[in-house]
Amino acid sequence: MAADQPTVLIVEDEPAQREVLAYNLEAEGFRVSRAANGEEALLLVAEDAPDLIVLDWMLPNVSGIEVCRQLKMRADTRQVPVIMLSARSEEVDRVRGLETGADDYVIKPYSVVELMARVRAQLRRTRPSTVGGRLEYDDIVLDSETHRVTRNDKPLKLGPTEFRLLSTFMEKPGRVWSREQLLDRVWGRDIYVDTRTVDVHIGRLRKALTLHGGDDPLRTVRGAGYALG
Ligand code: CA
Repeated sequence: MAADQPTVLIVEDEPAQREVLAYNLEAEGFRVSRAANGEEALLLVAEDAPDLIVLDWMLPNVSGIEVCRQLKMRADTRQVPVIMLSARSEEVDRVRGLETGADDYVIKPYSVVELMARVRAQLRRTRPSTVGGRLEYDDIVLDSETHRVTRNDKPLKLGPTEFRLLSTFMEKPGRVWSREQLLDRVWGRDIYVDTRTVDVHIGRLRKALTLHGGDDPLRTVRGAGYALG
């Protein structure tokens, strides 16, 4: 599986419900992690923030509402989308009223199709390239569904690694990525690759992007890494 597949954390205390959800998310190509209660969820998120959290309201000890409130209070986890699951619509009204900061609400029993659509809608906002979105930067257009990249309407030929590198950059223009962060995102943390490999592929990406003219949009930040724009 590609290293840039989005990760979804499921927080649900009922094992059967948790596994059904995990099965469906994995079938959609997401990487799934699981927490059986709120404390575990908070620990997992502090260790490595997922791209999205599906959070059940009814949890032992720390409720889903409290978990959500804590996540939305912290600067490093605030931007992670949270989809809250609840058993009744009155509960959803209450969650809304409590201003927990949840990004979306789904009522149980939910249709898998609907929940997956909600998950994709949230990711389209935060990680557009992973859910078939189209990214634009200046005159560069990247379509993650067709895997086509154009610059100034001319098609560019990119290898799979260069394509993932460019998607990463285009999701957050201006952000400086260290070589280690790029390795993690593009190659995956389980694979041993020398950081110099990043430089090699950045070189190839630059060459491809400037093949038909235009300035090199990638910036080398001395001692820090690379950025787009
Ligand atoms: Ca539950």
